[in-house]
Amino acid sequence: MSLKSWGGYPISKSIEFKFENNDSLKSIILEQESVIARGNGRSYGDSALSNNIINAKPHDHFISFNEEQGLLHVQSGVLLSDILNSFVPRGWFLKVTPGTKLITVGGAIASDVHGKNHHIAGCFSESVESFRLMLPDGQIVECSKLENTELFKASCGGMGLTGVILDATIQLKRINSQYINQTTIKTKNLKETFDTFEKYKSSEYSVAWIDCLATNDDIGKSLVMAGEFGNDGKLGYKSKKKLTIPFNFPSFSLNKWTVKIFNWLYYGKVKNTTSKQPVDIDSFFYPLDSIGDWNKIYGKNGFTQYQFILPMASSYDGLIEILQTISKSGKGSFLAVLKLYGKANDNYISFPMEGYSLALDFKIEKGLFDLLDELDQIVVKYKGRIYLAKDVRVSKAIFEQGYPNIDKFRELRKTYKMNDKFNSLQSKRVGI
Ligand SMILES: Cc1cc2nc3c(=O)[nH]c(=O)nc-3n(C[C@H](O)[C@H](O)[C@H](O)COP(=O)(O)OP(=O)(O)OC[C@H]3O[C@@H](n4cnc5c(N)ncnc54)[C@H](O)[C@@H]3O)c2cc1C
Repeated sequence: MSLKSWGGYPISKSIEFKFENNDSLKSIILEQESVIARGNGRSYGDSALSNNIINAKPHDHFISFNEEQGLLHVQSGVLLSDILNSFVPRGWFLKVTPGTKLITVGGAIASDVHGKNHHIAGCFSESVESFRLMLPDGQIVECSKLENTELFKASCGGMGLTGVILDATIQLKRINSQYINQTTIKTKNLKETFDTFEKYKSSEYSVAWIDCLATNDDIGKSLVMAGEFGNDGKLGYKSKKKLTIPFNFPSFSLNKWTVKIFNWLYYGKVKNTTSKQPVDIDSFFYPLDSIGDWNKIYGKNGFTQYQFILPMASSYDGLIEILQTISKSGKGSFLAVLKLYGKANDNYISFPMEGYSLALDFKIEKGLFDLLDELDQIVVKYKGRIYLAKDVRVSKAIFEQGYPNIDKFRELRKTYKMNDKFNSLQSKRVGI
């Protein structure tokens, strides 16, 4: 079958394996030369692509819930949206959630995803009590911060390269409202944007939409959104679905000018420097999920998300240089999201570090990869790194420079013979 992930590029010829139970999963793993697990395919690039795919998504049962402690035990194919549908009305939310709820728990662990509260709550793995992992020889091991610690640290953020996650116990957090009290702050340049993040550092959630085509003194102008859960006791949850993009847009429909107009309208619609409004969970955390198949607006060649992070000390200078380079190239991005991150955890190849990260969507077109290669050089110069969950083209050399623990990760893979068994198109490209 032809298989692609969220960016629609590349398209891989893959055989998909489904399994009934642990024994049949073991047989698949033992019989196939090389495999990779796949969740809901919401990674942008080629991390969940390979010749042989193990589809973990059908394994989507809730196993148990400890109401006193908020501990939820689920199979790895459960979607975050399933958890929200069942638990928000009961006053529970995810401790860490990315900008889409349409991912599996297995995918959340494998990418060690983060959300708008990284500066307070860290990555998804911080909410993981334990999970069970099937190794290359079919053995099942329980992994937690106390048990099989090395496997835990390698698998959280390990992009499926340590084995197949079967199920996991995660800690939920108590909420007392389905609303978030959001403050929106309009900033004029990157300095003001950084100052605003600093000012709202104690807010549980913060994120900025940045106008990546702004030039000169306007570089870094943004809408910063900060928020906290309300406390009004109103607890319901109804998923929003407004619109579905029915077909791939023609590729000319998205260009520098449409992005400029969009950015002008988006920024311009916010009149006041600071405004406050209560917003529901879906609007605050998952605005894009309400548009089904929104990836089709990038046309049939697909798109990629370029996400990098820079350490705190070099974030400002690095971002200015990167934004200048993008703006000069004229290759704009509707979606340009800036976030402040807290301390890194000690997982081997998790993406976050203390600093700022920018994520930008670009349609695949001539000249794009040259631009991204140029951005890579700036990222490396400022001691940053690229996020594998979004990546589809980074080179081995650039990747390695960003991840100082990569050799530890490679060693562990060798020890357990994972490198002989679990490989993706991405892992081969970056030489993990
Ligand atoms: C609109 C949108 C917004 C996003 N926002 C964010 C964000 O804010 N923060 C963030 O961190 N990420 C974000 N992402 C990325 C997304 O959260 C990750 O790519 C996530 O890993 C996707 O999960 P999935 O279930 O779709 O997994 P897939 O895309 O299918 O797989 C992703 C990786 O997980 C591995 N994997 C999946 N299931 C298993 C399993 N059972 N056992 C072992 N390995 C497994 C795969 O091998 C692969 O390496 C966003 C993606 C989209 C489309």
